[in-house]
Amino acid sequence: MAQLLLKNGIALIHDESEHVQAVKTDILVEGNRIAKIGGNISSPQAEVIYCTDKIISPGFIDTHHHVWQTQLKGRHADHTLVNYYPTGNFTAKLFTAEDTFWGQLGGCLEMIDCGTTSVADFAHINMSPEHNYKAIAATVAAGMRSVYGFSPNPRLSSTVPFTIDINGLGGHSMPTFDELGKASPWGDGRVTLGLAYDGFPWAPKEYLDMLMAKVDEFGIKVIQTHVLWRPGKPSIPQKIDEHGFLDKRFLTSHSSMSKEDADLYRKRGVHYSSTPSTELQMAMGFPVAAFRHDLGVRDLGSLGVDCHTNNSAFIPGEARIGLQSARAARGEAAAEKGKTPVTVGYTVQEAFNLATIRGAHAMKIEDMAGSIAEGKFADLVIFDANSPSMVCVGVHDPVAAIVLHSSPADVDTVIIDGIVRKRDGRLIDVKLDESAKQVAGKESVSWKDVAMNLIKTRERIQSEAEKIDHKDAERKVMEAFYISADELGDP
Ligand SMILES: [Zn+2]
Repeated sequence: MAQLLLKNGIALIHDESEHVQAVKTDILVEGNRIAKIGGNISSPQAEVIYCTDKIISPGFIDTHHHVWQTQLKGRHADHTLVNYYPTGNFTAKLFTAEDTFWGQLGGCLEMIDCGTTSVADFAHINMSPEHNYKAIAATVAAGMRSVYGFSPNPRLSSTVPFTIDINGLGGHSMPTFDELGKASPWGDGRVTLGLAYDGFPWAPKEYLDMLMAKVDEFGIKVIQTHVLWRPGKPSIPQKIDEHGFLDKRFLTSHSSMSKEDADLYRKRGVHYSSTPSTELQMAMGFPVAAFRHDLGVRDLGSLGVDCHTNNSAFIPGEARIGLQSARAARGEAAAEKGKTPVTVGYTVQEAFNLATIRGAHAMKIEDMAGSIAEGKFADLVIFDANSPSMVCVGVHDPVAAIVLHSSPADVDTVIIDGIVRKRDGRLIDVKLDESAKQVAGKESVSWKDVAMNLIKTRERIQSEAEKIDHKDAERKVMEAFYISADELGDP
């Protein structure tokens, strides 16, 4: 069995109460597991990675991400949710299965470059069976650990004129779901099937019964659904609960919620993903609930990137934005009472846990991922503690170094399932399986190959997207989502 020996690093180890301790140690990896943690481990057959002046962190866990969208990066910089739907989400219609392969591979490699080792993928790229196969092939090739959330969401039947097929469960969807359910898992068990579906409040009950029967049949452990809460509007989690479906398999995004919804989450064990960058930009609630003490659901929270089209895929960056915005909101609340806070309220440890062990709970993989422990998967990230960003803080408080000071440039090495995927700050070339080889025309691809293909495929997608009448499209999307014109408006 292949062995890796991480020598003399500062490992971030969770204790039984999930508090992180920095421990100088060696770590022996055997196959895909952490075999031993301790001082002075020797193993002549192991490949040694010298970790002096390095911080070894559990791999980051991203609990909400639309991984396929890479060619759309950049277009949502000044967008609200209303602008995003027609120009982001629904342009899946413009992607061929091959475009999907490159988009998905690019998305996975950006995550690996950032130290993310597990993702809950909300894959609303279900334009045909082949789109799903190519997305899964790319995820497997990249080496990510993933719950591939198959998505029978509404999709476009045409971009010009902009026409929404509201019944995403029709056409090829259910046969494809069946086929994927029988084929899962993939990639030595790293990629498993999930469900990612937003129709629970609207779809006819008999359709939902059929869908949930499949979820049970396939043993699906993660059901993702978007939740957008507005005061006075019907609660999506409550509607799902009225159908009798809401349980601990549900992983919602995003994190704004009422006290009643929070109580329901706790009662049913529902986890949620907070995606600070998109939540703050796209008016999805402030501050992020994952840091709020008053709602009583902090242990059910986790962090996601949501759209790498809109913001970086670096999970510590999301931890940072969430933490600091929660502190800001707390400061404002004190100021409203004429007070100046004496304590900061939320800690870097809490933020770090949301990025690691809490994410593992949300994805139901806490027994095997989310922390560094003997017997768990070897999903590890090695940071350079002496980089210009991390120097001194890396020694003084490695958790603060990661949450508040790091960038993807400080991620030196990434190991997933015992396999090195980034080394010395550079992504390792990706080996391709038979179906992936057909797309790429070669046995393996470097990041440069992936980037060239992304730029090439983006060009056609972008020129097609420019033909969409965006105002007409926004109106039709709002109609489809039962949002009336008088509900839209700026302050
Ligand atoms: Zn989303």
